[in-house]
Amino acid sequence: MKIAIDGPAGAGKSTIAKKLAGELGFVYLDTGAMYRAVALKMLNLQIEPTDSKRVEETLEKTAIEIRYENGVQKVFLDGWDVSEKIREHAVSKAASDFSALSCVRIKMVELQRELAEKRNTILDGRDIGTFVLPNAEIKFFLTASVDERAKRRHAELSAKGMNCSFEEIKRDIEQRDYNDSHREFAPLKKADDAITVDTTSMSIEQVAAHMLAIVRKKEA
Ligand code: C5P
Repeated sequence: MKIAIDGPAGAGKSTIAKKLAGELGFVYLDTGAMYRAVALKMLNLQIEPTDSKRVEETLEKTAIEIRYENGVQKVFLDGWDVSEKIREHAVSKAASDFSALSCVRIKMVELQRELAEKRNTILDGRDIGTFVLPNAEIKFFLTASVDERAKRRHAELSAKGMNCSFEEIKRDIEQRDYNDSHREFAPLKKADDAITVDTTSMSIEQVAAHMLAIVRKKEA
């Protein structure tokens, strides 16, 4: 079984997906981490997203790998564990820019389909239900108000000791949502058959219980 969870930045997709995967014994695949790893590589090499030719050439010589250590997803860029580094603010912004390039998406989607094929998997992202796995058995579209999403992201980054203002995070989220939903190739969009879950005034436990009940019903 494949479960797709799409939605805008900071809607709680990864927290919920991890929780559901644990409950169901599924593998969790955070597809955003792959786009973040691509962005990190390009930032390191000072390649601009406007230079798609160089991005494409660089990608051919880039290894992005997903490994699971004690059930936790780790992302390796050219053999280095970049799982922490890719969470930095600058990488989030760059990920949105580079993910709009079709050469980047084609490579990442291929990898995502390959990883999901092998096992029962929950994938979170922007285009899982519409493009990566249009035949996923269950599709969710997770959303929340922009203020609530910025609040959560701010708390998450502060807890990790990363210093960013609430206003900066909110602006960044709005900009990413705009970029992600207006790009030409596989934009952020609710699949027609996805179930919308507005998490604005729900706790993580409430969201997880609600979604788990839907999955269990489908499994029965
Ligand atoms: O989910 P996360 O915030 O880690 O994603 C970082 C960026 O990667 C998003 O803003 C989006 O531009 C891109 N992304 C995407 N498609 C996905 C997952 C993430 O375009 N399936």
